[in-house]
Amino acid sequence: MLNHRNVNIFFVLFILAWILLDHHFHLSPAAYAWILLVYVSVLFCGSYFIQLGYFFKSVNSGNIGEKEIALSFDDGPATSYTMDILDLLREKQVESIFFCIGKNIPGNENILKRIVDEGHIIGNHSYSHHVLFDLFGADKMLDDLQKMNTAADSVTGRIPRFFRPPYGVTNPNLKKAVERGGFISIGWSIRSLDTVIRNEDRLMKKVLGSLKPGAILLFHDTSQITVKILPALIRQIQQKGYRIVRLDKMLKLNPYA
Ligand SMILES: [Zn+2]
Repeated sequence: MLNHRNVNIFFVLFILAWILLDHHFHLSPAAYAWILLVYVSVLFCGSYFIQLGYFFKSVNSGNIGEKEIALSFDDGPATSYTMDILDLLREKQVESIFFCIGKNIPGNENILKRIVDEGHIIGNHSYSHHVLFDLFGADKMLDDLQKMNTAADSVTGRIPRFFRPPYGVTNPNLKKAVERGGFISIGWSIRSLDTVIRNEDRLMKKVLGSLKPGAILLFHDTSQITVKILPALIRQIQQKGYRIVRLDKMLKLNPYA
């Protein structure tokens, strides 16, 4: 299985074998640079692609036998579009999960409360969402995650267990923080790229073209294009025969501690 431990074992054995061969046959020194490059590339892919479960397992989809999918929105509570998205979800009677950033809560307590009051759930998306989050040590990461939970708890009385890594990046320190904090790491199976794609048709096609039973869709409640496409997107998902269900119900897991 491709995971960090197995890859490390493989590379250590490979390098030892290579050193032995080199000793006898005088192989090119450049080969060591290539081995290092391959190793670093594997680490990069392992960090970047949460679906690989390279450093630790995340839940990236639900039951592929059921024609149901779950929506998720990251980076709120946001004065920009969280309220608009809540309006649309209420209109369509669809429940979702919002992976919130703790530092966005002060001043937006009403938004966070509304998320919960209207039947949606809150996930932990860290407190700081710091650009250097992935360079934090395990203790600092855990402090950051717990600070978010404290903020969520003080406003809603809910302590999230579902955690989505900031930027979707994973590494060995985050593995420790997730395990020590008792979190369930949640990835996605469809990254909408709604913060990158500017064309509504393209975004719709990208999401609808990737739909599969059990899919977890990643959007941002800071993205205007998401608000624009959401009504048509929900309608077309339902027309394709999918039920849109809340993530915890799809996964049959308790979202709160
Ligand atoms: Zn984020």
